[in-house]
Amino acid sequence: MTGADYNFPSVEDYEPYIGPEAVRRIRTKAKQFKNHLVTHINSTYYGGGVAEMLSSVTLLMNDLGIKTGWRLIKGLPSFFVVTKKMHNALQGGDFEFNQREIDLYEAVLYENSLRMNLNHDFVVVHDPQPLGLIKHFRKKGPWIWRCHIDMSQPNQQLWDYLQPYVEEFDAAIFSMEQYKRRLRTPQVLFMPAIDPFTLKNKQLSEKEMDEKLKEYNIPTDLPLVTQVSRYDRWKDPEGVIEAYKIARKEVDCTLILLGNTATDDPEGQEVYESLLEAQDDRTLLMACGDDTALVNTLQARSAVVMQKSVREGFGLTVTEAMWKGTPVIGGNVGGIPAQISDGFNGFLVNSPQEAAERLVTLLKDENLRCRMGEKARESVKEKFLMTRLVEQYIDLFASFETQYRCTLPF
Ligand code: UDP
Repeated sequence: MTGADYNFPSVEDYEPYIGPEAVRRIRTKAKQFKNHLVTHINSTYYGGGVAEMLSSVTLLMNDLGIKTGWRLIKGLPSFFVVTKKMHNALQGGDFEFNQREIDLYEAVLYENSLRMNLNHDFVVVHDPQPLGLIKHFRKKGPWIWRCHIDMSQPNQQLWDYLQPYVEEFDAAIFSMEQYKRRLRTPQVLFMPAIDPFTLKNKQLSEKEMDEKLKEYNIPTDLPLVTQVSRYDRWKDPEGVIEAYKIARKEVDCTLILLGNTATDDPEGQEVYESLLEAQDDRTLLMACGDDTALVNTLQARSAVVMQKSVREGFGLTVTEAMWKGTPVIGGNVGGIPAQISDGFNGFLVNSPQEAAERLVTLLKDENLRCRMGEKARESVKEKFLMTRLVEQYIDLFASFETQYRCTLPF
């Protein structure tokens, strides 16, 4: 097989969704960066929204002629315990960091920097795990910190430690206006986006979906209600189960929690095990979320998708389900209200009780589900497709061109 036998989307494939004018505009903008070297750095190749997006962003940028790579930082589980704690603390968790943890963070990043030769025109560092790399490099071009986390109330001790790193960057990108911080670094806003051509998001045939459901023995006699998420407390799986139990007193359905564990998230197994006692023949806790065709099938075939997070940087699972025309009940936090307009293309909720009420309303009203689902898909088409995100990166790169290159000391 040669490269030509594989079929990866090109920006022209988006034309039915974004129109020929937008395709032309993006191609034209990208020309100025032809053969420029860009690298994205994060800490996991799969599991979670960052890896999901990088996979498509990097391919589409290469399609546009920008030589874009993707590097991972490596670390032992003890390193990822510290960085997951950082992630939790930045989302507002109450944690103290001791010197041993900080030393470990710094040592692992230093080690990574030794084998990471970076001579790129642009470097984009994602989230806190690789943030501290910056102090070990002499920049050739702008470095950008892309923060995907809900930063509305970060833990102060940790932020005091991380802020000087962030201020060494030339720009910081956040997902929502309310995550921006008081920083010397210029800050911009990019909301995440999905790739409609991946196995996760493309239209599967009815037969393929039937087979997927059968493969995992998922019962289809009652409506399906699904939450797809890493097993993480911020995703509030307990709240979903509670809402389901309340709703089931009025309308029968099958609940599925589908999750996976990212390599940089050491807490998943523990959270998963803590939920197992809730499992019965109508409450399925599945850990096979790396099967992306299964994720697609459940998002498409469920009567309702839940994303009852209590903190959520953005919530790509919401976007993915909306793209499939499925109404979503989402926690009224973080990036979810930027996607769901309450009562229009889904519902926003603040408690398990409210989630249960909305679930009953939706399960009892197929017309409402269809109407909301259609509007949901339309809003993703307008705002959350990958081409918009790639164009924002190109615009950001362009904004540095004159100013940055004139001030470099070499
Ligand atoms: N995901 C998956 N399988 C799972 C759980 C999550 O493929 O079992 C994917 C999900 O489809 C989405 C991403 O991981 O693409 C999660 O992104 P989101 O922004 O919702 O949450 P994060 O994990 O980044 O906090």
